[in-house]
Amino acid sequence: IDAAMAQGIPCEITPFYLSLMDPDPKADRHRHDRSLRAQVIPNRIYLDKMLEARLLPKEELDFMHEMDTSPTDFVTRRYSQIAIVKPYLWCPQICIYCQRNWELAEDSCGKADPAIHNLAEAYEWFRANPGISEVLITGGDPLAVSNDKIASILQTFAEMKHIKRIRIGTRTLVTAPMRFDEELL
Ligand code: SF4
Repeated sequence: IDAAMAQGIPCEITPFYLSLMDPDPKADRHRHDRSLRAQVIPNRIYLDKMLEARLLPKEELDFMHEMDTSPTDFVTRRYSQIAIVKPYLWCPQICIYCQRNWELAEDSCGKADPAIHNLAEAYEWFRANPGISEVLITGGDPLAVSNDKIASILQTFAEMKHIKRIRIGTRTLVTAPMRFDEELL
C-alpha cells in the first residue's frame, strides 16, 4: 500500500471493509480473509504492471474498449438493449482488478475530482434511443453521491417510457453498508 501511494496508484480501503480482515498479518495461510485482501491490496506484480501501463497510451489500458462503446460522455453501450450511465467516477474503495482503472488512474490516492457528472447529454442520448430498455447506473460507485442526486437520476429514467428496468451497480454493501439508512432505502 505504501508503494502504491508513493507511486500515485489508486488505492483506497474503507474502515468498514478493513474491519472484516484479520488484523494479524501472519495469520494461518488458509486465512479466511484472503479474498478480501486480494480485492484491494495491490500486490507487487500489479504495481509493476500499473507503472508499465503509465507509459502506454490510454486506449491500451481500456481493455473492455469502453472508449469505442461510448456514444456520449458517461454512457457505455455494450449490448443492443442495455446501456450504462456513470454519474460519478470514484468509489469508496478501489478494487485492484477494476475494469475502469484506466479512468481512475489519473486521479490518485484521494485526489480524485469528486464532481458529480452533468448527465444532461447522457439523458438526451437515452431519450433519443428508444431501443434501450435497461439502464445500469454504475461508475465508480453511484451510491457515493447524495440521496437527492440518486432520486433525481432514478426519477429521470423512470419518466422514460422505453426504460423498463433500472439497475444500480454498487459495492457499498461491503464497503460502507451504513450507507443504507432509512433515507436511502
Ligand atoms: S467501479 Fe466497481 S470494480 Fe471498479 S473500483 Fe469501483 S467498485 Fe471496484
